[in-house]
Amino acid sequence: MILIDGKKIAAELREELKKEVLSLKTKHNKIPGLTVVLIGDMAPSQIYVRMKEKAANEVGLKSEVIKYPESVEEKTVLDKIKELNKDHSVSGILVQLPLPKHIDKQKVIETILPSKDVDGFHPMNVGNLSSGYDSSIPCTPLGCYLLIKKIEPNLNGKKAVIIGRSNLNGKPMTQLLLKENCTVTITHSKTKDLKSECLKGDIIVAAVGIPKLVKGDWVKKDAIVIDVGINKTENGIVGDVAFDEVSKIAKALTPVPGGVGPMTIACLLKNTIECFKRSN
Ligand code: NAP
Repeated sequence: MILIDGKKIAAELREELKKEVLSLKTKHNKIPGLTVVLIGDMAPSQIYVRMKEKAANEVGLKSEVIKYPESVEEKTVLDKIKELNKDHSVSGILVQLPLPKHIDKQKVIETILPSKDVDGFHPMNVGNLSSGYDSSIPCTPLGCYLLIKKIEPNLNGKKAVIIGRSNLNGKPMTQLLLKENCTVTITHSKTKDLKSECLKGDIIVAAVGIPKLVKGDWVKKDAIVIDVGINKTENGIVGDVAFDEVSKIAKALTPVPGGVGPMTIACLLKNTIECFKRSN
């Protein structure tokens, strides 16, 4: 079984991006910039933002974090985004989710200029992705896609089963694999007999949020299994896939942690550079 080492593959991607930033600096005499807006003091968001800032600095991007207290008014945040939209030194804008209840998430997403939307959540980017046009692609599915391609460069005609239909993961994942000529089944909480759907998959991407949902006997021999789940349990962080069982059947599997997570951050940096290139 191939253990898909997301940590190593992400480090290689960051190395490539570092070189690209240097060459862009030489060519344009400026560097791509990522601005993250962080609202409130939720511990996980603080940790994610710190990781993103550190990774951005490591590849040589200009990075900035704008912090607001939990009580900040929605208008203040929207005005700041409009200001960042106009700022030429800012290539990409990310507003860390989740947001406090009094702030309308969709309004925030739609205020970010599509060309600076490094998360790929703006309806214009969502539409472009599903129409097969150039767009920002949400970082986690993009990371999963790159991991799958490392194992199997030609996905033509493969059967892919996606578990979970969120805008963040399942839906964009579906579009990416359709573009690669996979036959895609997207499943969710109302799917009948998830096990038999999974058994058809040459590729399975689990993005659910249920610890060890995907069992060994749900997986076809030699399938590629990507585990997006991050679930806190008494025994530490586990994915949506029962690793011990599935690793005996699958051809390749991502661990949790150390699989999809590091790729998500590397893809955020990649998206920032893509935004810079499109605007220059
Ligand atoms: P989400 O928005 O809660 O969506 C979960 C999806 O799973 C929904 O479509 C839901 O179906 C489906 N689902 C729930 N129970 C199911 C069941 N029993 N059988 C089949 N499908 C079921 O979650 P998300 O934001 O996509 O995140 C999913 C997981 O990925 C979480 O553990 C999250 O922490 C993790 N995550 C990891 C990364 C990373 O970088 N590694 C990034 C983002 C998220 P319905 O639509 O019918 O409700």
